[in-house]
Amino acid sequence: MASLFSYDKKCYGDNMKTRENHIDCVEKEPGSLGITKVKLDRNACIGISACIAMAPHAFPALDEEGKAIINDPLGTSDEELLSAAQSCPVKAIILEDEKGNIIYP
Ligand code: SF4
Repeated sequence: MASLFSYDKKCYGDNMKTRENHIDCVEKEPGSLGITKVKLDRNACIGISACIAMAPHAFPALDEEGKAIINDPLGTSDEELLSAAQSCPVKAIILEDEKGNIIYP
């Protein structure tokens, strides 16, 4: 099962990227890097689990399809989220600010 937050359309903004595009998305309050959205490209994710090692609260496990689950990142710093995204070999983790600017990758 994917993230509980996968179907939160508000999270997708004007792009309206939906589950059909295989993008999971969670929202958060901005931290030191201004990250407000954490997205996971499920097509790109190959289940390496590097993100789980770097930010285990935000990325607690793989789902039954071998894709990373995104959890509510409350309590995970922006730096940890960035480290997790940078650790992903296929750049499946997308970090955005409140204006929709892509912080990473
Ligand atoms: S590091 Fe990237 S490829 Fe590996 S589980 Fe996390 S999101 Fe998927």
